Amino acid sequence: MISSSTQHDVNKSIPNVSFRDRLATVDAQGKRKWIFAQRPKGKLYNIRTWVSIGFFILFFAVPFIRINGRPALQLNIPEAKFIILGKIFWPQDFFIFGVAMITFIVFIVLFTSAFGRLFCGWVCPQTIFMEMLFRKIEYWIEGDAAKQKLLKAAPWTSEKIRKKLAKHIVFFVMAFIIANFFLSYIIGTVELWKIITEPVSRHLGGFSSLIIFSGIFYGVYAYFREQICTVICPYGRLQSVLMDRNSMIVAYDYKRGEKRAKFRKLQNDPAAGDCIDCFQCVKVCPTGIDIRNGTQMECVGCTACIDACNKMMEAVGRPLDLIRYASENGIAEGKKLRFTGRMKFYSVVLVALATLLSALLVTRKNIDGTIVRAPGMLYQEKGKDSLSNVYILNMVNKTDQDVPVTLQLEDLNGTILTTEGEKISVNKENQGRSTFFVVLPNDEVRKRKTPIRIGVYHNNEKLTEMKTVFMGPFNNN
Ligand code: SF4
Ligand code: SF4
Repeated sequence: MISSSTQHDVNKSIPNVSFRDRLATVDAQGKRKWIFAQRPKGKLYNIRTWVSIGFFILFFAVPFIRINGRPALQLNIPEAKFIILGKIFWPQDFFIFGVAMITFIVFIVLFTSAFGRLFCGWVCPQTIFMEMLFRKIEYWIEGDAAKQKLLKAAPWTSEKIRKKLAKHIVFFVMAFIIANFFLSYIIGTVELWKIITEPVSRHLGGFSSLIIFSGIFYGVYAYFREQICTVICPYGRLQSVLMDRNSMIVAYDYKRGEKRAKFRKLQNDPAAGDCIDCFQCVKVCPTGIDIRNGTQMECVGCTACIDACNKMMEAVGRPLDLIRYASENGIAEGKKLRFTGRMKFYSVVLVALATLLSALLVTRKNIDGTIVRAPGMLYQEKGKDSLSNVYILNMVNKTDQDVPVTLQLEDLNGTILTTEGEKISVNKENQGRSTFFVVLPNDEVRKRKTPIRIGVYHNNEKLTEMKTVFMGPFNNN
């Protein structure tokens, strides 16, 4: 994902362009190159640390938050039951899911084309867990990148065994904890607690899921790491088609940086740029790339290279932000990043979509359903002056209480006869099906199909209204 002009300009000063042949984490023989990322230090890293603390608090707290007695968020995929902000969503809410999916896709497209991989670098759970938890544990046990490299190359002494064992045990414990919380987002804390406290034999499925999730998280953070972002993540793969030359990216200002040279040489070379070729930006990069080669698919926008380069610029007394958030056009024209008209427009569209979705969620009905005429039935004569039709009512009760309801014709003079007495009861968090008759006097049925509206009431409160038609004879004048 390197734009041609950037490639062109950069290539003038970079003879070695082998970075284009393969991923930075794969060597010439196709083997994985392990990344020993140096610990970043700087303003952006500090802000990211605070953002990650906020994320961890949310991630570990949300399963315990209750709204109206229900979890704030539960995505029970096996049972097709979703609870968002305490509201239960069923397959009948498919319309909202459809709108949510479309909103989400449009959101992704607009957000990415305007702000690049801002999400990946700042709030993606994979990046946060990897860089702000597991990587920090690794620094704590094995030391910074240089010490990690030495430890890997060292023979299996008791110290190496102790450190490796400690790291992997802590990694697995953390993965196990994350797996527990992850599972609680699916089955809820109550079910999870049962799995933890009751005999394994009663919860074989749940217990197996817990072990499988723990294994996956451990494998991802102990071994697979940046490969998730560079090889697997579909969002990462989509970047190259979603971004253009005006997208905001972490970019090296090649106009200012080139021609690069070591600091001593640079001081005596009037043609030299600001880059002192110290490789600090490469050493801190968790995906192992050299951002000076231009925008690359592997860049997750973590900003570690910005901090690293700013530190060097400070040390050599040059202006900061040789690497910064910028657009390719901005770099080419030597301009600072602006909140452009396009970004403003996209932001307005994003806010409008989010508002639409919020409105759908807020106005969603707790009791909902459909009415269809019983298949294969026309009308029946009821005495000399009335006609009746049979209907099937499918109702879903999204609340946590049984709700007895009555049906009422909204705009016609007639009666509704249910097969279960006056009230129809729909059990809590459940669906119900019932059959009923609508009886209309002949003079209300003037056409073959008469539109009717049926209100659903609970304690005189109208919960919802459904529309259907009443079939009558062809000529009833
Ligand atoms: S190039 Fe910079 S922003 Fe991109 S992944 Fe590497 S360190 Fe992070
Ligand atoms: S950290 Fe900055 S000065 Fe050092 S190599 Fe990278 S871009 Fe050049």
